[in-house]
Amino acid sequence: MGTALKDITAGKQEPTHRKRASWDEYFMRIAVQAATRSTCDRKHVGAVIVRDKTILSTGYNGSVRGMPHCDEVGHMMENDHCVATVHAEANAIIQAAKNGTAIAGADIYVTASPCWNCFKLIANSGIKRILYLEFYRDEKIMSVSKQAGIELKQVSFKEAGME
Ligand SMILES: [Zn+2]
Ligand SMILES: [Zn+2]
Repeated sequence: MGTALKDITAGKQEPTHRKRASWDEYFMRIAVQAATRSTCDRKHVGAVIVRDKTILSTGYNGSVRGMPHCDEVGHMMENDHCVATVHAEANAIIQAAKNGTAIAGADIYVTASPCWNCFKLIANSGIKRILYLEFYRDEKIMSVSKQAGIELKQVSFKEAGME
């Protein structure tokens, strides 16, 4: 406390040269934070919907409302995938709908590229840009996003380490 006061009064504190986070990094780190709330350890995913540098909605993959979590009762496996959860992107879109928040024209930051079902929801919700941290599973979205006029971009930053 004493030193902080001294720094201000001295009036010539050295610049720190700290590299400021880009907006993409900023929102992606928040998506990484959202993923920490996930309740299915098959894959922890977080999503953040943003327009004009403002967060409209967030989501993570978790069980149907009122149902127990995978982490408590195990997964609901079908064709090698856990189908118990509503995915992060879907939950972010649902949260916006629940609160009456318009998301047309927005961007979505996701820690993993969307599965086909989430991609379809994103496209029809009017979201225009998908920014993802790691590629996940579905190649189809690469070509379809071009056709549908949705920008798909990978964002990376140091120590992005997701499990
Ligand atoms: Zn699960
Ligand atoms: Zn999905």
